[in-house]
Amino acid sequence: MDIKAPRGVRDILPDESWRWAYVLDVTAKTMVDFGHSEIHLPIFEQTELFSRGVGDTTDIVEKEMYNFTDRGGRNLTLRPEATAGMVRAAVEHGLCAQGAASRLWCWGAMFRYERPQKGRYRQFFQIDAETLGLSGAVADIEVIALSAEIFRRLGLRNLEVVLNSVGCPKCRPVYREKLLAHFSANKDKLCKDCLLRLERNPLRLLDCKEPECGALADAAPAIYDCLCDECASHFEEVKSGLSGLGFPYKLDKRLVRGLDYYTKTAYEILSGDLGAQNAVCGGGRYDNLSESVGGPHLPGVGFAAGVDRILLVMEEQGCSFGKRPQKEVYVVAQDDTPAVRDAALGLAHRLRVEGIPVEDDAGDVSGKKRSFKAQMKSANNAGVTWACLVSLGEDKEIALVMKNMATGEQTAVQPEDVALRVKEAR
Ligand code: ATP
Ligand code: MG
Repeated sequence: MDIKAPRGVRDILPDESWRWAYVLDVTAKTMVDFGHSEIHLPIFEQTELFSRGVGDTTDIVEKEMYNFTDRGGRNLTLRPEATAGMVRAAVEHGLCAQGAASRLWCWGAMFRYERPQKGRYRQFFQIDAETLGLSGAVADIEVIALSAEIFRRLGLRNLEVVLNSVGCPKCRPVYREKLLAHFSANKDKLCKDCLLRLERNPLRLLDCKEPECGALADAAPAIYDCLCDECASHFEEVKSGLSGLGFPYKLDKRLVRGLDYYTKTAYEILSGDLGAQNAVCGGGRYDNLSESVGGPHLPGVGFAAGVDRILLVMEEQGCSFGKRPQKEVYVVAQDDTPAVRDAALGLAHRLRVEGIPVEDDAGDVSGKKRSFKAQMKSANNAGVTWACLVSLGEDKEIALVMKNMATGEQTAVQPEDVALRVKEAR
């Protein structure tokens, strides 16, 4: 076939998708334990939500968004992240009206036009949790603990929580000036992108991956001396709260994150087993995001974790994915006569209705039932516990035999007894 999936986009095939279901099950339960309710958000939003929310000098908005105009001339964007949509939905539906707090989570596909490589795709999946309407450090601590707990339950090892504060509009300008002075004095060493960042978004100079820029960023002043009293004490509370809960973390003065909306807390969780794409999770506080997209003041803190990367690490580390859902019964039709065919179909349906996973021989590509031998082979390959053999007896009555695939033992049974026997033997 000439038509292939677009570049950077993957199919998640059955051999893999049951593992995704496991990760999402564990996540959903953890979210409930931490008081977050699931929400489903649209996959596309008005472009403005992201250009104003995420920030129009960020890599995401400048280079990575899938923008399109619909037939009505509206400017729309496939969501590159979920936080802005979450805040939009909470405001639109008054979820935080009258000072209420809202703990939400969602998961789904995000879209960014990036250079595809291992752990980096153009359509990828995120788990996203947000706490809206709370400005105290407790909310930050709980969000970080929530993300770490999901990873703990999934059995991920070798992770590191990296923490920073990016200040607020009160103290960040002071820091910005210091950064400008530092980098301007070394302009000749900066890469092309960083020269632009110097003009448009100096904080972003700190996370350039180019070695020379990186060395300059390492030598840059830290934000800690510039934080205002409020940001400084918030940062102290987050740090001591994490220590109190027994979460080790590392401070990284260069952690600024790729989205403009962060204030105060910024953090990432890195894996030692992911190579270049080492972040499994990123998040932080964003007290001005709502206002920047035209909403009321609504402080928030949250994180997004990359499902594709979580799966990569779990596979790398040999983590358990629970048990792959198995077929339990294979219904084998002795021959292709209408009576046997109907009885086989009837039995398969009856068992499925009883909640028993069944595979049967629905015929081959030409519509014919396959031979008895071929069906038994399929039953073996399917790894079922039971094969149910349907045949026409000498008395012209339908006969049923249950074969225990482990022991080979065969028992004649009535159709109405099969489900019970299967369940009793579980
Ligand atoms: P990176 O530095 O790896 O580009 P980011 O800071 O752009 O990450 P966020 O916007 O914080 O990523 O998204 C949160 C998480 O989503 C990341 O930690 C990562 O696990 C995942 N993620 C981001 N972009 C991609 C992508 N293109 N493909 C797969 N996963 C991604
Ligand atoms: Mg990125």
